[in-house]
Amino acid sequence: MKHQRSSALQEALSTAPLRLSTVSDAATTDGAETFGCHVFGLDAMRKRLPKDVYRRLARIISEGGRLDPAIADVVANAMKDWAIEMGADHYTHWFQPMTGLTAEKHDAFLSPTPDGHMINEFSGKMLISGEPDASSFPSGGIRSTFEARGYTAWDPSVPVFIVRNDNGATLHIPTFFYAYSGEALDRKIPLLRSLDALSVQALRILRLFGNTTAQRVRASVGPEQEYFLVDRRLAALRPDIMLTGRTLQGAASPKGQEMEDHYFGAIPGRVMSFMQDVERELQKLGIPAKTRHNEVAPGQFELAPIYEEANIACDHNMLTMNMLRHLAARHGFVCLLHEKPFAGVNGSGKHNNWSLTDSDGNNLLNPGSTPQDNAQFLVFLAAVLRAVHLHGAALRLGAIGAGNDHRLGANEAPPAIISVFLGQELTGVIEGIITGKPAPDTGSGVMEIGVSSLPPLPIDTSDRNRTSPFAFTGNKFEFRAVGSSQSVAPANIALNAAMTCALQDIADELEKGVAAGRTLNATLQDLLPRLFRQHSPVVFNGNGYADAWKDEAATRGLPNYPDTVTAVEHYSDADVMQVFLRAGVLSEREMLARQEILFEHYAKTVRIEGDVLLRMISRQILPAARHAEDSAARLLMHVRAVTENGDQAESEHFRKLHAHTGQLQQAAATLADALAACRAASDAHDMARTARDAVLPAMQLCREHADALELLVDDELWPLPTYAELLWTH
Ligand code: ADP
Ligand code: MG
Repeated sequence: MKHQRSSALQEALSTAPLRLSTVSDAATTDGAETFGCHVFGLDAMRKRLPKDVYRRLARIISEGGRLDPAIADVVANAMKDWAIEMGADHYTHWFQPMTGLTAEKHDAFLSPTPDGHMINEFSGKMLISGEPDASSFPSGGIRSTFEARGYTAWDPSVPVFIVRNDNGATLHIPTFFYAYSGEALDRKIPLLRSLDALSVQALRILRLFGNTTAQRVRASVGPEQEYFLVDRRLAALRPDIMLTGRTLQGAASPKGQEMEDHYFGAIPGRVMSFMQDVERELQKLGIPAKTRHNEVAPGQFELAPIYEEANIACDHNMLTMNMLRHLAARHGFVCLLHEKPFAGVNGSGKHNNWSLTDSDGNNLLNPGSTPQDNAQFLVFLAAVLRAVHLHGAALRLGAIGAGNDHRLGANEAPPAIISVFLGQELTGVIEGIITGKPAPDTGSGVMEIGVSSLPPLPIDTSDRNRTSPFAFTGNKFEFRAVGSSQSVAPANIALNAAMTCALQDIADELEKGVAAGRTLNATLQDLLPRLFRQHSPVVFNGNGYADAWKDEAATRGLPNYPDTVTAVEHYSDADVMQVFLRAGVLSEREMLARQEILFEHYAKTVRIEGDVLLRMISRQILPAARHAEDSAARLLMHVRAVTENGDQAESEHFRKLHAHTGQLQQAAATLADALAACRAASDAHDMARTARDAVLPAMQLCREHADALELLVDDELWPLPTYAELLWTH
């Protein structure tokens, strides 16, 4: 085995799990005690703010709105004192530009006084708004016509928090990021707009059902985060892992996931230590990390939090991803959030569990126990079906990305066709409503909405179909197409916007019926069967992995946008834009800018991968192959000299090495041409298409020969840690 590889492997295998007592204060085990201790939350505010200021701030937090400049100084000062006591000396506006990551620029509290001293200062103005010179973030052309700067503004609905390391801490202020013109340059602004719009329409339905108390309807989100861990020393020998987050070459490990011995298996010691570290740090940030386990692929794991209000859940998931990446280093790992780091084993997703709750605490997606609740549940259910059926293309945009393209439809993850899984019981209920016949096991007479009650729906039986991209799981929907590395904001923005449109259509009809003097029940009797019939094509309880589903989906008229470029092309379709426009979530200009950014992001991702692979081929793989070819040639000559016909195996070995080396060289030349074409593309769209149609296929061809060579070249000469080493060393 090549020396570097061998010593990295030995070091990895002799690494003991990190004792958390040796790193900062991570050894605290009582989560209930430390939960949220790094957050300036309501409790801390109540303790430190004058009563009236606290009350005004608390109202803004629960009901939305902007911080009044009159109290901003008081709030900022209390925050600063708290942060300094917690060891902070800097603050940052923390935002989510369109890079898909989070961004921060730190400033010290230190500020000079006229008499030449230094004091710690943090004013209301510094809290409320910032002006980072963030002109290098993608804007899709929005900024250039106005001015280069982007502006940040505090989102008071999310509390500020500190991020600490061994040497100090920084106060983080979650902020919006927007252009001079007021247009959104981030994902937080449209998410908040979508949540407001959704609440307005959902409340209309609740009012029709006689609910006079609910003030707001909130979306809750619980994102299950999957990830891979790879030993850092092994990863360091692979430019693809270090620079792209996935392997661009690698023959399959003789042992992969087929024994199912990793899934839910005992968590390896070093990984356990890492998980405990991550969980405790997250809990201090008020992030309710709850569940941990081994996932299906070797080296793959999952972390699931308890669900939270959607805006907070999105922020918290971004923080979780940062924490996973960051803390992996201290445990000697690299954390891969990529959707498909390894070919041939399962990829990583992020199941986006989503539900709606009114401000009285009722989950609107919970089938009820009274006829009244049932009818209301059926209205929301019909709205979900309508949203997904009519606006599937918009939802598909919530689950794109160069990485996710390798995962969706790859026989382990849902296909790119967005359909809804309801389970047998609920499908039976809906069929009963459509036909007017009772569902098989209700035992009641004619199905009358609002009169009969739903049969009990056991959560267990409804959660068995893992092949559906959008599944009803008892009292929530699970959007499973979202990729592991992505922000969940786009998925939830699309979901909320689509749901807003559907609820609005339904509320319009119901209100019209009631205004015309009909009872709500009569209006429902008329509307629900129609809605369920119209949208039943989107319900699919079968195997989403099967090829037959593609054909069937086509006959049902469900769109299949198999890759990111196709999905993003449809962003500018009138009916897709209409979803976001109608819900007031994004303006046309914001959408066109986003479309451009998405094309560009995709193309750049693929281009970087292509460049990395080319370099690995020319500097690592081909040299090893030539070396092997050379010694194979010498061996062949030697064998031929001493035997007459005993050289068959040697010639065959040499022939294969020679052939794959030659073909790899050719494929690399094709890849280089494709990359050049990509660079020469006229615009972002063209560049994205070239990346998909020329760069990716060339990479795939390179990979086939490189993988074949890995199995032909002496282990002594092969420079890259293998799949077996990467996947099974923890
Ligand atoms: P699994 O899908 O692995 O069986 P669960 O369905 O119990 O596990 O939960 C997965 C995720 O769904 C968790 O993050 C959980 O907090 C979240 N979740 C549970 N109930 C809801 C809900 N009503 N709304 C949104 N998310 C929820
Ligand atoms: Mg789940």
